[in-house]
Amino acid sequence: MWRTRAQNIRSAAIERMRSCGVQALACLALVSSLWLGESQVSLANSETAAVDRNTTDSQCASSDYRSYYVYSGSEEGNLIALTYDDGPNRRFTPYLIEILMKKQVPATFFFLGKQVAMYPSVAKFVANMGFEIGNHTYSHPNLRKLSQTEIQDELIKAQEIIKSSTGMTPTVLRPPYMLSNRTVVELAQKMGLAIVFWSVDTQDWRPSTTKQQIIEAVMSQVTGGSIILMHDRNTKTLEATEEIIDLLRAKGYEFVTISRLLEEMQASTSGPASPEQE
Ligand SMILES: [Zn+2]
Repeated sequence: MWRTRAQNIRSAAIERMRSCGVQALACLALVSSLWLGESQVSLANSETAAVDRNTTDSQCASSDYRSYYVYSGSEEGNLIALTYDDGPNRRFTPYLIEILMKKQVPATFFFLGKQVAMYPSVAKFVANMGFEIGNHTYSHPNLRKLSQTEIQDELIKAQEIIKSSTGMTPTVLRPPYMLSNRTVVELAQKMGLAIVFWSVDTQDWRPSTTKQQIIEAVMSQVTGGSIILMHDRNTKTLEATEEIIDLLRAKGYEFVTISRLLEEMQASTSGPASPEQE
């Protein structure tokens, strides 16, 4: 059942990207040796540090596979998805859940396997409250620097600990730093995972980013189908979330999980998704 649903979602995403083309987002760039030399905590803090606006598409090894990535949902509707990466976090995740529950807003959490290992009860709480949980790898590496076996370990270890801790099997994968390659795409397909990035980056991981800047980043870029990137790791993001929800609702937007966004994409494409070619 889960596998069938996951395959349908993936088919819809892939079909849409093939038929409609890929959005012209900033290309991906290599993580600098500076970042790679830092601790894992720093890496997890720098979700988008690798994105370099000056890097051209031809320099981007991921570009050949961009049609397999989801950056947003259908622009025609009013659905948008809030996503929170790098948790679960013992201090901030429960407060964020409280805010989202109070506002009755669904959201998607891209968990790190190592964080789930540290805080399994928080992970289970998130799942029990009905939120979607995605796979964000086990330890937040640059997957393009790893061997096939290492990539497999990162994806499978995260998948298994999320499943054993929450009872929920992720159907969506977000490679750290927006960095992916053919091996990641092929493994994700085998595991029934749609690869989902984002269309609105709040830059909330930067220490210098203020609550108001997070809000302005969202409000200045949001469209129907937006996938908004945030992190449940600081107070300003939680405070911004409360305001963003009210502002977006006032503009007529409806919040959904990533899976629901992908299902709506499938529904908005003409006819049923084509069979998988694997
Ligand atoms: Zn991350």
